[in-house]
Order: sequence, then C-alpha cells, then structure tokens
Amino acid sequence: MPIFEFECCRCGKEFERLVFASEQGAVPCPECGSKETKKVVSVFSCSGVGKDVGGSCAPSGSKGFS
Ligand SMILES: [Zn+2]
Repeated sequence: MPIFEFECCRCGKEFERLVFASEQGAVPCPECGSKETKKVVSVFSCSGVGKDVGGSCAPSGSKGFS
C-alpha cells in the first residue's frame, strides 16, 4: 500500500496519507488545510535483505544518499 509520510510546510504537521501516483503533490494538510506539503521519504523496513530468494529488496547502490 502506497502510504507516504508528509510534512506540512506551513504548520509543520506531520501526517501519513494513502496516496496514489496521480494524487502526489496535492495532499492537503489535515491540520491547517494548506497544500504546501512535502513528502517525507522514510526508511522502509526491509527484513528480506540477506535472503537469496526474491531479490526485489536488493540495495541498488548508494545513489541519492550522501
Ligand atoms: Zn498544516
């Protein structure tokens, strides 16, 4: 499920919201109603790392992180 964490740029409220691709960028703040919200990239728990099967959780390098 595409649940993302958002933070309001106006009041600083943090909230989670189920968002589909077509809705990204237009998530209003539940606190003040402002649409100036930004998506917070949270670390997904990836307990499957280390297994040989699957492989969808394999780390793709450290691009983007510094
Ligand atoms: Zn707000």
